[in-house]
Amino acid sequence: MTLVIEPGWAWDAENGLRTGVHVVVRDGRIADVVTERPTLDAERIVAPDALLLPGLINLHNHALSAPLFRGLADDIAPGDLPGHIVFSLLMPLGDIVASAMTEEEIGDAAEMALLEGLRSGMTGVLDVFRVAQWPFVERAKRLGLRSWSCPYTFSDLVGMAPDGTPTWTRPEATGFEAILDLFDRYDEGPRGVTRIGFGPHGPDSNEPALLRRIDAAARERNTIVSIHATQNPIEIARVKQRYGKGSIEHLRDVGLLRPGVVLAHGMFATDEEFAAIAGAGAALASCPLAFARSGRFVPLARMEAAGLRLGIGTDGVTLDLLQELRTASVFAKVQSGTSHGLSAPRILRAATRDAALALGRDDLGLVAPGQCADLVMFDLGSSRYQPVWDPLRALITNGSAADLTLAMVEGRVLLRDGRVLTADAASVTRRGAAAIRRMWQEAARRGAIPAAIAERASFPLRG
Ligand SMILES: [Zn+2]
Repeated sequence: MTLVIEPGWAWDAENGLRTGVHVVVRDGRIADVVTERPTLDAERIVAPDALLLPGLINLHNHALSAPLFRGLADDIAPGDLPGHIVFSLLMPLGDIVASAMTEEEIGDAAEMALLEGLRSGMTGVLDVFRVAQWPFVERAKRLGLRSWSCPYTFSDLVGMAPDGTPTWTRPEATGFEAILDLFDRYDEGPRGVTRIGFGPHGPDSNEPALLRRIDAAARERNTIVSIHATQNPIEIARVKQRYGKGSIEHLRDVGLLRPGVVLAHGMFATDEEFAAIAGAGAALASCPLAFARSGRFVPLARMEAAGLRLGIGTDGVTLDLLQELRTASVFAKVQSGTSHGLSAPRILRAATRDAALALGRDDLGLVAPGQCADLVMFDLGSSRYQPVWDPLRALITNGSAADLTLAMVEGRVLLRDGRVLTADAASVTRRGAAAIRRMWQEAARRGAIPAAIAERASFPLRG
């Protein structure tokens, strides 16, 4: 079947902004982009007020975290938690999720999060999760989203002592073998929609021998690796103490500073480390809202100055990728003290072509013949955009996910006229919310929710 899209504007990072184009989609690919209206027997989508873009790619996310911690990990005050938020709330709750949620519940919560992403123009997502949360893979498939699932490996599990300091213990299994099983079950190959990669949690929680093994296994399977790097001072101190060097140098020495590796955060990296990442051709996914939540700016202006391949991720704070892109753009301006840091075209390039290249996909991220038909369209007809002087700035400065009218992956329409076609959105939302509520009740029963946090819940935490 052939589909012709006739938007008011089309944009991609190589061809720039175009008007009056007709985009022909056939067999999952963009067959042609022409200025003459094609005389084809085809279904047509005529949208003179709309901006057509390559589908947005979320380069670092934890789908379950957004619904799990929504509203409860925000506005943390001194004394609310016994230690660092990662060790006293996020990781312990992650442990309970891993042991107490059924596969069905994990799937329901993940699907609810993915639905939110899809509705903001996200057609692809790199998600990092514990191996037990594998139902994520099936739900992403069911919604029709492109996914790169990178389950965690650990050779040391991170916990917390009563005084709030982190502790490390040996797990029974690292997760490596389980990832190979998932790969055999679900991976669709280098050009597939569903991909399985490796997600070593960090250079502090994975021994060098395991990281080297992951590097070799990923190369052999032509798949990606994603790892948190210079995420927090505890990681940096531990790597320094054990190996006598910085996290980035350490990753280079174990083979994981190269194309095909997506580093997450780079929050505490030095300028020399950013330059090393850029020089090695690795990519960096930055997640501005995740750190803003604890009062910090991610160093976007410095990352940009280093010229590294930058992508943007939501890290499981929100799945609204459009909101995250706006945040990134605003933060970069504030940090650089200029009005041009991470402009609208620049930030859209990060979320489209650069993210695609970071994932080794030169057939994604452009509105051009031969590319996969992963496309989204935002209607700019409403008052919040009018008059449309510059559609890219209108979208990044004033845009709302609610104005997404079309989303497709390999030509399959997932959302049309604002309605999700691949799922019953109301039912997904109901089931996802119920799964998360039960999780918090179970965590409270086990005494895992600090009292000051428990007080905030607007639903009964017991029963
Ligand atoms: Zn992360």
